[in-house]
Amino acid sequence: MTGEASNTSGFVRFLSDNYDDGFLFAGVSSRRLTNTELMAHLERHPAVTSGVVAVEIAGRSAEGRPIPLISFGTGPTHVLMWSQMHGDEPSATLGLLDVFSALERFPDREEIAEIFNRTTVKVLLMLNPDGAERFQRRTGQSVDLNRDAATLRTPEARLLKSLRDEFEPEFGFNLHDQDPRYTVGDSGKVTTIAFLAPAFDAAKSDNPVRIRAKKLAAEMAEMLHPYIGGHIARYDDAYDGRSFGDSMQRWGTSTVLVESGGSIGDPEKTHIRKLNAVMLLGALHSIATGGYERADLGRYDTLPYNTKNLFDRIIEGVTLTFGDDAPPIVADLGVNFREDVDLQTRAVTRVPVIADIGDLSIFSAGERVSGQGRTIAAATLRIGEPLGE
Ligand SMILES: [Zn+2]
Repeated sequence: MTGEASNTSGFVRFLSDNYDDGFLFAGVSSRRLTNTELMAHLERHPAVTSGVVAVEIAGRSAEGRPIPLISFGTGPTHVLMWSQMHGDEPSATLGLLDVFSALERFPDREEIAEIFNRTTVKVLLMLNPDGAERFQRRTGQSVDLNRDAATLRTPEARLLKSLRDEFEPEFGFNLHDQDPRYTVGDSGKVTTIAFLAPAFDAAKSDNPVRIRAKKLAAEMAEMLHPYIGGHIARYDDAYDGRSFGDSMQRWGTSTVLVESGGSIGDPEKTHIRKLNAVMLLGALHSIATGGYERADLGRYDTLPYNTKNLFDRIIEGVTLTFGDDAPPIVADLGVNFREDVDLQTRAVTRVPVIADIGDLSIFSAGERVSGQGRTIAAATLRIGEPLGE
């Protein structure tokens, strides 16, 4: 490791150690954040009131909601981040509120000064506010914004594209949440963060733009290794010219897709929010110093892909009865918790839903409980339906 690369790892350690009582933006705790709430939080955010970051309304969603753009730094290297183009994927949005806090909180850290002096960063914090309002993936017009990079039919997609064309970022961060039940390769371990340096063509070719993205992704995986080693995966790399990550790469912006996944026992993903904050600051520092250039490409190439899903809970060895129709059998029940959001109160109800029935011994689970001695009438169980408990 050279000096500059180890600078970033020291910075990451400092950030991780000083998060909870340091730069966690305590104003926001709910993942079901609306655009109105986000705008109110920004108005009183210490980084905004102190002028450390600048906020403007970059544009409006189809239904007229403001899309905030946060800017900081004056350096020559341009970096564009966009979060929550899928309305129900807010982990990075919350993490970025913490990033802004750190910029304000630690002005004397050399690494923060390097970020300010060597990069100019623009952040579209909630690109799909109409979807966020409904806590749904798609826009208010029912479009998957991440399949609109080619046709640019939605105002949100046009905003992102025009910002790219005008700002000409060297680096792009495409920030999402993925299914929290993916596992890493064949390890059975839940994927907490997945990375991808998206392909810019169907042959998945490499060019300097994509290589730079792969190196940055390798650097970010390395940063997270001490905290979530074994829980880091690579996202599916099939090319889709309608996606923004693939298109940005094609347009010449070295783009890293970050997918916030799952964390056992942490359904509100507070740890993943912290990881986002720490990792994005670390990545900015690595860009500022050029440390990522020395990253080991093999670190990226050997990241296992996301594979099969785990179950939130497996109840092992339940006895299922069939009345007079058939003799009883013993089976495992795979249960996942569906999150029902009350759009008025933003309250969340976690409903156990039957996902599978049978021999589930090959699957991993958030928790395994014994069903021995438990008898359930099979007629009351239906895949995809709530489990009465
Ligand atoms: Zn997404």
